[in-house]
Amino acid sequence: MKPGRLTGAEGMICKDILFDEIKAVCPAEKDAPMSQHTTFRTGGPADVLAAPRNAEELLKLLAVCESAGVRCCVLGKGSNVLVKDEGFRGVIVVPGGDFCRIEMQGDVIRAGSAATLSELYLFALKYSVGGFERLAGIPGTVGGAVRMNAGAYDSEIADVIVACTYVENGRIVTAPKELLELSYRHSIFCDSEKRVIISADFRLPEPGRDPDEIRAVFRDYSARRAASQPLSLPSAGSTFKRPEGHHASKLIDGCGLKGYTFGGAGVSEKHAGFIVNNGNATSGDVLHVIEHVRQVVFDRTGVRLETEVEIL
Ligand SMILES: Cc1cc2nc3c(=O)[nH]c(=O)nc-3n(C[C@H](O)[C@H](O)[C@H](O)COP(=O)(O)OP(=O)(O)OC[C@H]3O[C@@H](n4cnc5c(N)ncnc54)[C@H](O)[C@@H]3O)c2cc1C
Repeated sequence: MKPGRLTGAEGMICKDILFDEIKAVCPAEKDAPMSQHTTFRTGGPADVLAAPRNAEELLKLLAVCESAGVRCCVLGKGSNVLVKDEGFRGVIVVPGGDFCRIEMQGDVIRAGSAATLSELYLFALKYSVGGFERLAGIPGTVGGAVRMNAGAYDSEIADVIVACTYVENGRIVTAPKELLELSYRHSIFCDSEKRVIISADFRLPEPGRDPDEIRAVFRDYSARRAASQPLSLPSAGSTFKRPEGHHASKLIDGCGLKGYTFGGAGVSEKHAGFIVNNGNATSGDVLHVIEHVRQVVFDRTGVRLETEVEIL
């Protein structure tokens, strides 16, 4: 396989060859509709979706993509991405199998990149370890959360992670937290799609806590989410990053954009920071709403909103 082979008639043949090569490595699907793999429930097909079950399969898969010169992007729960209607030209990697494991390793909890934050919270709870209850409502995986340094209610991944193991240039590397450059919705993983997280180690932030008290805190924050966020509609959470010195949702609300709609997408009536799929939105509709909101907010306030949601 040579670079750039996934376009035109020749591209169709090459897509088949690439698919066969990937299928020999791990479970895979051709022309996978990304609306089924993102929480926005929009987006066209990915050429190939591959699901490696362990580090060995992941390394082989990345090597196949590298030698084919094909773009490769890892997804967790797709809760912070918008895939365009044209779909994704390349390979979407959705780790499964061993990547879902969570285990106690000495004095750390090691979680695979495909484990969810709510599973991490429940695992810690079994050992009477608190510290994850405010992150548990974020509907993503450990991989996605580390990449985004996800956070909520004054708690973020950077507070609890101690190290991360990932693939870079065909090698497995473990880096301590200090080298991960974790800051507001940023990490070294944002700088290169080629770094793929395998697992993360978390310190036991608050051992020996009363499980009932941990559960009560979790319920409290879940209730706050349910009260303030449009959880019954597909979205990717807060669409925009928090601009320095401002709150995106307050700026959007202040510009009278709550409830603004285009096609099937709109600014949530419940939380102006969320753009939601009201039922039959395309990614184009969502992008239109994003651009409209950015333009109006800039014209009226001079603040440029940047998307937190990643557009593929
Ligand atoms: C209702 C709702 C509420 C939300 N609330 C919050 C909140 O309170 N706080 C918050 O921070 N976010 C929130 N989000 C956004 C989202 O859940 C987080 O950003 C989450 O961390 C994304 O995880 P994911 O597994 O879905 O990642 P994805 O959306 O699948 O991917 C996000 C990014 O991470 C990369 N990535 C995923 N896995 C890996 C891996 N193994 N290795 C390398 N890169 C990887 C992807 O390539 C992509 O660039 C919310 C979303 C929704 C829908």
